[in-house]
Amino acid sequence: MIIPVRCFSCGKVVASDYRKFVAKISEIKDSGKKVDATVISKTLDDLGVERYCCRRMILSHTELIDEVLPFS
Ligand SMILES: [Zn+2]
Repeated sequence: MIIPVRCFSCGKVVASDYRKFVAKISEIKDSGKKVDATVISKTLDDLGVERYCCRRMILSHTELIDEVLPFS
């Protein structure tokens, strides 16, 4: 739905990193490069998201708010 502000496990702020992550990945896609696990891992490292609990917050999130909002 909406990205949680903090990581459920450790409490690190991940909401701001999520927007940067999405922007960086779409930038890589637009440049024509293939996005694979290595690219995603390096992007998260560059953002400073190193713990796997924080990584799962970003990687497992699905942005559904725009699809749900018309029904509220
Ligand atoms: Zn965490």
